[in-house]
Amino acid sequence: MNTHVTIIGAGLGGLVLARVLHVHGIPSTVYEAEASPAARAQGGMLDIHEDNGQPALEAAGLTDGFRDLVLEGREATRILARDGTVLFDDDSARGRPEVLRGELRRLLLDSLPAGTVRWGHKVSGVRALGGGRHEVGFAGGGTVVTSLLVGADGAWSRVRPLLSDAAPEYIGRSFVETYLYDADTRHPAAAKAVGGGSLFALAPGKGIQAHRESGGTLHTYVALSESQDWFAGVDFTDADAAAVRIASEFDGWAPELTALITESDTAPVLRP
Ligand SMILES: Cc1cc2nc3c(=O)[nH]c(=O)nc-3n(C[C@H](O)[C@H](O)[C@H](O)COP(=O)(O)OP(=O)(O)OC[C@H]3O[C@@H](n4cnc5c(N)ncnc54)[C@H](O)[C@@H]3O)c2cc1C
Repeated sequence: MNTHVTIIGAGLGGLVLARVLHVHGIPSTVYEAEASPAARAQGGMLDIHEDNGQPALEAAGLTDGFRDLVLEGREATRILARDGTVLFDDDSARGRPEVLRGELRRLLLDSLPAGTVRWGHKVSGVRALGGGRHEVGFAGGGTVVTSLLVGADGAWSRVRPLLSDAAPEYIGRSFVETYLYDADTRHPAAAKAVGGGSLFALAPGKGIQAHRESGGTLHTYVALSESQDWFAGVDFTDADAAAVRIASEFDGWAPELTALITESDTAPVLRP
């Protein structure tokens, strides 16, 4: 087989596919909207399961590299009540090791022949030409024609409409992300509350979830079941005011939990 495969999106899905094809001697090109591998932070930790993520990395011949990225102990899970009481605490490994998404993406990128990923190529639309061939158009101008097209361009895929009318919808809940750095030294109460892995402190319609990343970084996702209009009423351009506003939804909760919001070392970021 010598068909050249065209993949849209250099996320984990597109890159794993490109790598597995490469291992089998099948060339591919990945078109990615972002300007470079460093264009944006890649998010937090991913648990990689025995039944899907790990076999995919095995097929890609990258198991050893993946094992080197695993942050030991991050599978620990802890559930706290609003007042900080520990309700559940389990630090056993359950076969779902945690890695930083950005490091996993870097491993995949480094495993591909130079030039496989074309950065700064945002797909604006695709058109069926018949016989399985497609024309891919780019926002910056230009097109390519391919005889095998794969859409791996995430939730807002420009390729999916070829197969489905389904469109992403707001499900009524958003995350607000914060980070505390060097937490064991600078934010010890919050660090102690989170422990060695994941923390969940949940209530109807709201919750604080946090994860210990590398080097004492605590990455928090504050979940709120509110409308997009409600979030539009929070001024995220004023970091301090936004943190206070979001934290006020957790009035009366233990200070070591609300500290994950109010002591953030970064501006709170809304993730609808
Ligand atoms: C908060 C959170 C936590 C998660 N935790 C886990 C976890 O612990 N374990 C786990 O297995 N999964 C987890 N997931 C799910 C995981 O992130 C997704 O399953 C995975 O990212 C999907 O990969 P993908 O390659 O399909 O899409 P994406 O990772 O979304 O990548 C899509 C790529 O396509 C690019 N792109 C988008 N539009 C275009 C365009 N028009 N033209 C060109 N390129 C484009 C994007 O820039 C991006 O690089 C989590 C998700 C979230 C949001």
